[in-house]
Amino acid sequence: MDQIRIKDLRIFAHHGVYEQEKEQGQNFCVSAVIYTDMEKAGKSDDITDAVDYGAVCLFIDNYMRENRFDLLEAVTRHVAEELLFEFPAIHKVELEVEKPDAPIPLRFNSVSVKIERGWHRVFIALGSNMGDRLKYLERAAANLQADARFRNINVSDYMETAPYGGVEQDDFLNGVLEAETLYSPWELLGRLQEEEQLAERKREVHWGPRTLDLDILFYDDLILAEKKLSIPHPDMKNRQFVLKPLAELAPSFVHPVYRKTVAELLAALTE
Ligand code: ATP
Ligand code: CA
Ligand code: CA
Repeated sequence: MDQIRIKDLRIFAHHGVYEQEKEQGQNFCVSAVIYTDMEKAGKSDDITDAVDYGAVCLFIDNYMRENRFDLLEAVTRHVAEELLFEFPAIHKVELEVEKPDAPIPLRFNSVSVKIERGWHRVFIALGSNMGDRLKYLERAAANLQADARFRNINVSDYMETAPYGGVEQDDFLNGVLEAETLYSPWELLGRLQEEEQLAERKREVHWGPRTLDLDILFYDDLILAEKKLSIPHPDMKNRQFVLKPLAELAPSFVHPVYRKTVAELLAALTE
């Protein structure tokens, strides 16, 4: 992806753990690599598709002067996220914030913190088979919509499904939600479990009845195989109630393990 690079932007601000840093302030030095799709802006000639780097510098300067944090880690994280909120054409940012005059009684050039933050494309399976199923699914989607760390949310049609896995229970209502998110995979899992808790989900029988079930299907083309988090969701190729709504949203998305599109996986299962 195309890049815009900002090197050593000087900002005088008041971040730090020590009183003297908070009161007197000091110099900070900010460098950023901004990832954006310049081809899109080149074609559309629309300013909202472009990143105005002058405006980016002014925004960083203003944000760092107007806010105060103890830790360089917090400054860096907040500036990166605010940039992603403020400039929708920024896809990803690598940000380094340096303190050339940090209060350390030794000779050094500078200390700095560097992080990377960006929007990630995710697909989430939604399911419910207890109570007002539609209400549970719609409320979860609305709550994610209201969370600034998600954007461009699309929800498939919902489909009625017979239960899966052999436990005797009511039919499910299933769907898939697509979004871009700033959450890391583990943060996303935690955020979805929060929604399940809000729906008073009880973890009783494995594959048993539940008010709300939210599973991560894909996170970009990430492959992760940990006990508590497997991405892509390991059983999706056997589940029509996942592949069908997924194919409605993204038929040509390629499964990073099987190297097949969602449409191909669905066709293979239907056969
Ligand atoms: P299945 O994952 O086969 O659909 P389930 O949804 O009924 O089963 P849960 O009881 O909801 O299973 O979740 C059990 C655990 O699965 C969670 O605590 C979570 O740590 C883990 N897990 C692993 N991979 C994922 C994923 N991709 N999305 C959500 N949870 C996952
Ligand atoms: Ca599930
Ligand atoms: Ca689950």
